[in-house]
Amino acid sequence: METADCIVVGAGVVGLAVARTMAAAGREVLVLEAEPRIGEHTSSRNSEVIHAGLYYKKGTLRQHLFPRAPQLLYAYCAEHGVPHRRLGKLVVARRAEEVEPLRRHMMHATEAGLDDLTWLEPDEARELEPNLACHAAYLSPSSGIVDSHSLMLAYQAELESYGGTVALRAPVTGGEVMSQGVCIEVGGAEPMTLMCKTLINCAGHGAPPLARAIAGMPASAVPRGYFRRGVYFGVTSRPFKRLIYPMHGPGGMDIHAVVDLAGNVRFGPDVKWIDRLDYSVDPSRAEAFYRSIRSFWPGLPDGVLSPAYAGIRPKITGPDEPPADFVIQGPRDHGIPHLVNLFGIESPGLTSSLAIGEYVAKLLGLKAHMPMPMQAVPAAE
Ligand SMILES: Cc1cc2nc3c(=O)[nH]c(=O)nc-3n(C[C@H](O)[C@H](O)[C@H](O)COP(=O)(O)OP(=O)(O)OC[C@H]3O[C@@H](n4cnc5c(N)ncnc54)[C@H](O)[C@@H]3O)c2cc1C
Repeated sequence: METADCIVVGAGVVGLAVARTMAAAGREVLVLEAEPRIGEHTSSRNSEVIHAGLYYKKGTLRQHLFPRAPQLLYAYCAEHGVPHRRLGKLVVARRAEEVEPLRRHMMHATEAGLDDLTWLEPDEARELEPNLACHAAYLSPSSGIVDSHSLMLAYQAELESYGGTVALRAPVTGGEVMSQGVCIEVGGAEPMTLMCKTLINCAGHGAPPLARAIAGMPASAVPRGYFRRGVYFGVTSRPFKRLIYPMHGPGGMDIHAVVDLAGNVRFGPDVKWIDRLDYSVDPSRAEAFYRSIRSFWPGLPDGVLSPAYAGIRPKITGPDEPPADFVIQGPRDHGIPHLVNLFGIESPGLTSSLAIGEYVAKLLGLKAHMPMPMQAVPAAE
């Protein structure tokens, strides 16, 4: 039987970040990816926003990872030449009754340590973004965007520089917990059985089914996975320079405007619960997009939205349940010394990828080598 030291399942942005962190901490790492290319699923189907940490509830793992997560990511991008831009985000009240909730929202974020937020009256917001209609807004200058594919390639290159490997077309189909590690079955064109000392399950949508297929993993510790699709529509004009996030109810968000590194603007993601991985974009959803976008961009002309792409949030609670936090289970949670499972890593998983890598390394008793986070985040460029 072939043996390996540390196996990471899944070459999305989280799996690759975990892999580069484990390799930098001195482990021999092999990443097994089912697809023929890295980052084919959620990691290449998102908003590519570097979140500053405005929304996370006290006591959650999401909040625990901030503000370190974006600091690590900005430092990493600068150090490794990954294209990114700190363009800033406006969180906006579209209705008069949203102004007070928005104020509380900003206060909550300030209390959580974000000391760079600025309150804006409607004319001040319009000075920054002339197409924006709002009753109030606040500016988060340290929110930004990143080229997620370049980021994944940088993680992969770093992993390889430490002697690690990514094997593609290598789906892990199951395994068994043994006294000295985990024995796994790899399918694909060259099926094999591999024994590893440590297994880290970063399989995104595939994480719950994979954990269930590992004999010895307590079934009661594995959440059910759900699929919640969000689609995006693009425009050819460039109505906004910054990210625009409208308030929706107390603390929630509606369809937002995101800007890519080329300056192109797209809108999304919306919400639809589906029962399988299906990335199709239904053009008839445009009607709801026009309505929602015109609530903050009244000048949106008819007929300009075109379907862009879809992403699917890897949920671990269903439509009628409260949203779940990130779940990262280590030896203390399930009693298996050689196994870590990551479940429900939806937004802000891209922003948090390095911080998650650091968290996983610590769970396994390793000291992570991380980029030096910047002390002060410079204002929007
Ligand atoms: C619509 C949307 C918008 C988002 N916007 C943002 C944002 O702006 N900012 C932000 O920070 N985060 C955002 N996120 C969240 C972010 O995209 C995810 O948290 C992140 O991409 C998750 O990465 P991952 O590596 O865990 O999962 P994935 O990218 O899904 O990777 C998992 C990998 O595992 C592989 N795999 C699965 N099963 C197996 C198996 N059995 N064997 C081998 N390989 C397997 C898959 O092929 C896949 O490549 C968004 C998410 C969505 C859906």
